[in-house]
Amino acid sequence: MKCYVFLGPPGVGKGTMAELFCRDSGFAHISTGESLREEIKRNSAAGRKVQHYIDTGQLVPDEVVAAMVSRRIGVLKADIPGFVLDGYPRTVPQAELLDGVLNENQLQLGVVILFEAEEGLLVRRLSTRRVCDSCGAVFNESTNPPRQPGVCEVCGGELRLRSDDQADTVRQRLQVYRQETEPLIEYYEQRDVLHRVPGGGAVEDNYAALREVI
Ligand code: AMP
Repeated sequence: MKCYVFLGPPGVGKGTMAELFCRDSGFAHISTGESLREEIKRNSAAGRKVQHYIDTGQLVPDEVVAAMVSRRIGVLKADIPGFVLDGYPRTVPQAELLDGVLNENQLQLGVVILFEAEEGLLVRRLSTRRVCDSCGAVFNESTNPPRQPGVCEVCGGELRLRSDDQADTVRQRLQVYRQETEPLIEYYEQRDVLHRVPGGGAVEDNYAALREVI
């Protein structure tokens, strides 16, 4: 079973690319951001504990996300070809924890995809991103608008700006990315597993570039 890591700044399209790739390949999609938002929506004890970090654009403590990922990897069905980690690891300690979990499960890290785009574009994309409250489908007011403004085309739910997509929080998330996550580029470059894929173009073009690598 293969393990692919999708790395990159907020708004670069890791989630969209992971969704398309997993749909086409049968890989499982493990998104730590999505799992954390589900905990918050369910108002679980874990959700209450992490809400403040997410709303203020901070990273949730390493041990909380690491435990979540370890649980998810532990229950994967044996017959799938692999899984994509979308948004994990985000710090060097998380990458080291991941090495441990992969070892325990007799798995190996395959490729790490670094999606790249210019920062102004990321800020514009996040401020126009709209997410369905009910099913999580993602739209964009300028590049992928729903037929009816504010209404999800998949389930009819209400589309909203994610609380952490507000301008101030986006700036904070980008700063956290530069400080905490960018060191992973060198970490994985040294292991010769890092591949760069453009994330600034149209979804189809970015996906075609991804499929040339995996
Ligand atoms: P995302 O949906 O990947 O943009 O993640 C949304 C938020 O969830 C982030 O801004 C963090 O607060 C939190 N989060 C997601 N993944 C991680 C991670 N690997 N480590 C720490 N916090 C995370």
